[in-house]
Amino acid sequence: MSENCLFCKIAAGEIPSTEVYSDEHIVAFRDISPAAPQHILLIPRKHIQSVAALAEQDGELMGKLLLTAKQVAIDLGIAESGYRCVLNTGEDGGQTVHHLHLHLLAGRQMSWPPG
Ligand code: 5GP
Ligand code: ZN
Repeated sequence: MSENCLFCKIAAGEIPSTEVYSDEHIVAFRDISPAAPQHILLIPRKHIQSVAALAEQDGELMGKLLLTAKQVAIDLGIAESGYRCVLNTGEDGGQTVHHLHLHLLAGRQMSWPPG
């Protein structure tokens, strides 16, 4: 746990969130300001700043994160209609919370390119 990290505090249950999935390594909860009808954030419990801070040994954890996104999509009933997985990274990537998180967005037609 990193001091003063919002998502570490959410993972620890110190700040409330609407959780949709939780296990030993991963927590998934609803985004407080949804950008789509379904907007879930999936985070590793381990504090990793961003994709740019990933180490070789984080490979298995990132695999789990993506597989959990797949399962959450199935559980929410959005697997067939489709969804978008996003990992905003660094300033130009639009990252505002510096604890790695995967956005799972669904429930409307997504556009491309993103803003
Ligand atoms: P980023 O911009 O870093 O990719 O995404 C951060 C996301 O965290 C944003 O979509 C924002 O709405 C969400 N967020 C910020 N603060 C909170 C919070 O306290 N609770 C929840 N559930 N989501 C938050
Ligand atoms: Zn953190």
